[in-house]
Formats: sequence, structure tokens, C-alpha cells
Amino acid sequence: MTVKINENYLLLQNSYLFAEIARRVDEYQKENPEKEIIRMGIGDVTKPLVPSVVKAFTSAVQEMSDSATFKGYGPEQGYSFLAEKIIENDFKPLGVDISLDEVFISDGAKCDTANIQEIFDLDNTVAVTDPVYTVYVDTNVMAGRTGAMNDKDMYEGLVYLPCTAENGFIPELPKENVDLIYLCLPNNPTGTTLTKEELKSFVDYAKENKSIILFDAAYEKFINETDVPHSIYEIEGAKEVAIEFRSFSKTAGFTGTRCAYTIVPKELKGYDSKGNSQSLNELWNRRQTTKFNGVSYPVQVAAAATYSKEGKKEIQEYIDYYMENAKIIRTKLREIGLSVYGGVNSPYIWVKLPEGIDSWSFFDILLKEANVVGTPGAGFGPSGEGYLRLTAFNTLDNTKKAMERISKLNFN
Ligand SMILES: *Cc1c(COP(=O)(O)O)cnc(C)c1O
Repeated sequence: MTVKINENYLLLQNSYLFAEIARRVDEYQKENPEKEIIRMGIGDVTKPLVPSVVKAFTSAVQEMSDSATFKGYGPEQGYSFLAEKIIENDFKPLGVDISLDEVFISDGAKCDTANIQEIFDLDNTVAVTDPVYTVYVDTNVMAGRTGAMNDKDMYEGLVYLPCTAENGFIPELPKENVDLIYLCLPNNPTGTTLTKEELKSFVDYAKENKSIILFDAAYEKFINETDVPHSIYEIEGAKEVAIEFRSFSKTAGFTGTRCAYTIVPKELKGYDSKGNSQSLNELWNRRQTTKFNGVSYPVQVAAAATYSKEGKKEIQEYIDYYMENAKIIRTKLREIGLSVYGGVNSPYIWVKLPEGIDSWSFFDILLKEANVVGTPGAGFGPSGEGYLRLTAFNTLDNTKKAMERISKLNFN
């Protein structure tokens, strides 16, 4: 006998988006070593950890060096000192009650949004917004919940909810009955978001259709407008229909430090084949305790320090810095006649391309003529064609320089 592979992996599109971008950038840089390229493509931060986080992190590492304070395996769900701070700071002020055993601390929202589908049957119908954070799609493909990709660049069996300038980036409710709905708000890649009222229509849909919403709020800290919900649980009844994912990555520069958390309310129910209701909180707990051994102690201490008075202030300064970049990008691109979206409640700016230019061609023009790297919208799904994503995570200097260079291009 020979070893058979999981053939669902063969359904995945060949090149991962960011690998193809890196390939094109490397090739250009090799041919033009003197050019200074500004990267506004990948969603990674540039600011370091803030001082109060580093201080807490360092002293926790010291604790690990002494047998009296050393920590071995911690709880798979995370330490309660961090979960308590999460509840107090991220949910109490919104009027949302979360209990300790509904908080699951992890090493990333990418892993959690990728792994959550494991606790659901393969026969469930999945809806995603289009464009989309590709992790939601690819992990369902790997699990075998879809067919092959068709000639419209859509996986068979997956329900796509287009978000374009035409519908104001407000996805229509699924016309059919779907079981799982992934929502990312504020959105990566479009940078746009929904009002409370708009999000409520999804919660109502989920209640009516007995669906579950998988709500990714990784960019919650970037919200500036008042009518934008910070948590889906601000919508009445959402605890019965939604799982929420959050991360310290973009909020506090933890992309390399790794800490995130997921809320799985105890009210949440799924059904077995006999029609009996089952607790999703218990299933996720079973999954995590079996496959995950917790986030390192110093990292959780560092994450807890983001909630200290100084920590909050220092982090807010960095967020304001990035959002100033976002404003510069929006303003400059509008000045040269481009339509841009997002960048108000999120660090992403979604640029509508001039008529007749596709997103990979525009990517190449930006790279070769302005030496600026963006992310082609088509990489996020068929409705991303005709758009390009820029991030506000670069330095202020580089952001200004990039906008100067783009302003000199002539798209007409
Ligand atoms: C960056 C990002 C995350 C965060 O992932 P981590 O694994 O916590 O670093 C999650 N969801 C979206 C949409 C993101 O853009």
C-alpha cells in the first residue's frame, strides 16, 4: 500500500497570495537593486511592543528562572488573570456579560478562525463575504467542505456574499439557508464595517435559520465611529448565535509575540444527528484541551499588561499613529481622483482601480513605477477584482513617500 494524502489540499489554489507577491517583488528587486521598495502589502505592524508590555513580559521571564515562581503547563484555556482583564476591559464597558469559562486564550486568531470549523459537521453550508480573509475559505476547503474551484474563481458548495462599492460593502443576507457565516468586522481586506443595525440583520438571520456566526473582530481597537459595534454581543441575542475572535496582534503589536482569544458563549448550541442540542462551548473546550497546550506564561502576562493604565495609553498612541497614516493615504489617493474605502475604522484602505485595469496589472504598475507594494484585490476573492489593498502599518515617513510617488503616476 502507498500513503494517500488528504486530496482536499489539491483543491487549493496553487500559489498562496503573499507568496506570489513576494516572488514578484524579489524578481523586481533583483533586476533593480538600487530601488527602495515601500511595502504596504502584508498586514504586519511596524511599531514595537510598548514599554509597559515589555516590562511585564521581562519580569515574567525572570519568574520563569526561579523554581519558586517557575510555571510549567498552564491551563489550556489560558490563565484567569488574563481572562478576567479581558472580561473587565473588553466586554463589561459594552454592557456585555462574559463568564470566565467562555474565554479561550490562544496563540492566534488565525489558528482559532482556522480550527473552529473542526467542531462542525462537514455537511454544513458555509457562507463567506467576498472579498474575504482567505483563512476561512482555505480551511474549509482542506476539511472537505467544498468542491473544486470553478471558472468564476469560486469554490463549489461555498456561498459567497459579495461586498463591493455598488452595495456599499454591506453583504446581502444569504438567500438560501446557510449554517455557518464568517464575518470580519472591521473588515480585512476592505477596511469597511457595518453599523449596529446592519449587523443586527445578520444576528436576526442566524436566529431565524439556526445558523452560527463566526465573528472576527481582530481590528476592533481601530474603530473610531460611534455607531460601529465593537463586539457582536452588543447586539441583543447574539450570545445564542455567535462566536467572537479577538487578537492582540494588530492591537498591541503581538504579531510576533502571539496572543489572541475566542469567546464561545455557553448559550451556543449545535445539534447532533438525533436532533439533540449540544454545547459548542464544551466541544471547543474538548478540542482545545486535546490539541492545544496553552499560551506561554510570559506572553499572557505581557497581554495582561496591555490593559494597564499606561499600557492602554501607549497602545492608543500607536493606533493613532497608524490611523494618521490611513488618513494620509485616503486623502492623497482621493486628490489624484481615485475612489478609496475603509481607513476610518480600520488600518486598511481599499482602493478602487481606474476602469479597465485589473488588480494584478495595477499591482505591477505600483511596484515598477512607484516602487510601492500593495495587495491585489483579486487575491481575496472574485469580488476583490478591480481593487487593491494598502495598509497603514508602515512608518509615517514611508507612507508619505509612497503617496508622493503614487501621486506622480498618471492612470488616464
Ligand atoms: C491579522 C488578522 C488576524 C490575527 O491573527 P493572529 O493569528 O492573531 O495574528 C485574524 N483575523 C484577521 C482578519 C486578520 O487580518
